[in-house]
Amino acid sequence: MELGFLEEAENSWKLQRCYFPSKVGGKPAWLDPEHLPGGEQMLCCICSKPLIFLLQLYAPNDDKIESFHRTIFVFCCRNGGCYSDMTKDSPFRVFRSLLSQENKYYPNEAPDYNNPDALSECHLFTNLCEVCGNHGTKLCSRCKKVQYCSKHHQVLHWKSHKHQCNVNTDEILEFNSPLFPEKEIVIETEPPEKKPDNPDLDQLNEMHAVQDFSDDDLQAAVADITEDKAFSKFHERISREPDQVIRYGKKVLWCSADNIPSEIPPCICGAQRTFMFQVMPQLLNHLKIEHSVTKLTIDWGTVAVYTCQDDCNTSPYIEEYAWKQNVSSTAT
Ligand SMILES: [Zn+2]
Ligand SMILES: [Zn+2]
Ligand SMILES: [Zn+2]
Ligand SMILES: [Zn+2]
Repeated sequence: MELGFLEEAENSWKLQRCYFPSKVGGKPAWLDPEHLPGGEQMLCCICSKPLIFLLQLYAPNDDKIESFHRTIFVFCCRNGGCYSDMTKDSPFRVFRSLLSQENKYYPNEAPDYNNPDALSECHLFTNLCEVCGNHGTKLCSRCKKVQYCSKHHQVLHWKSHKHQCNVNTDEILEFNSPLFPEKEIVIETEPPEKKPDNPDLDQLNEMHAVQDFSDDDLQAAVADITEDKAFSKFHERISREPDQVIRYGKKVLWCSADNIPSEIPPCICGAQRTFMFQVMPQLLNHLKIEHSVTKLTIDWGTVAVYTCQDDCNTSPYIEEYAWKQNVSSTAT
């Protein structure tokens, strides 16, 4: 099992796309900088607002020539209301992008991670939204200098851009950026288990020994314990490395026995999707989300990401699948 941790990047240029970064926050470092996903694909399925970049993982697949470079991008909605338990649709969207070693955007050799030279390769494409870094398709009609992914982001940016647009200055005014704080993701191997123990089983056995329960009581009590068990297993496992924000592996570590998907929809190519990694709740601490009593905020127990098992290359950005599991209300 591999774990992802957040680190302050020593140099922000290392998070640019020509260094194939794994990172959280800021603007996406697109792998294919030309054929970006856009339109409907970049809107929240629940509220239809533009999605904001959450994280990307650089995960080359050595088994295939086409996946010499492979990056998975996760976007999410900024609207806290889209994270409630009630919603069937997901406030997340995931894209997978592949490039072979020989491609038109990057040199064949790996970049020198000790020097910012590769940066010159990074800025060839400028088709990006000024606010979020997603595909910019709308030009400011007055100055024709800045692009936006949506009306929504143009309006958001106007407070700052108004000044530049009118008086032609380079002075940049603050605005309420929807981007998350940027940090590098570094991957390490999970340390082994310290000591095996299974106290929950004793508790279950005790329960069976009590004769006075009705069947319904017993059922409910067992359900509670199963729920607690998933929750405590989750916490016990992450206590080995409490700061983990990503887990790569074969099996999802669910935080609750509720709301586990029974079926994952197949990839557009027809192949099954398999679990690739999950986003842990620890990431929420880093996102600096404002909490208020009256408004719902961005929240999750864990987010499991599933990708095409054939790692197909059907388009420059292939949409994949994310399942959000909230912390169960019975586990506190
Ligand atoms: Zn939304
Ligand atoms: Zn935008
Ligand atoms: Zn303008
Ligand atoms: Zn596929």
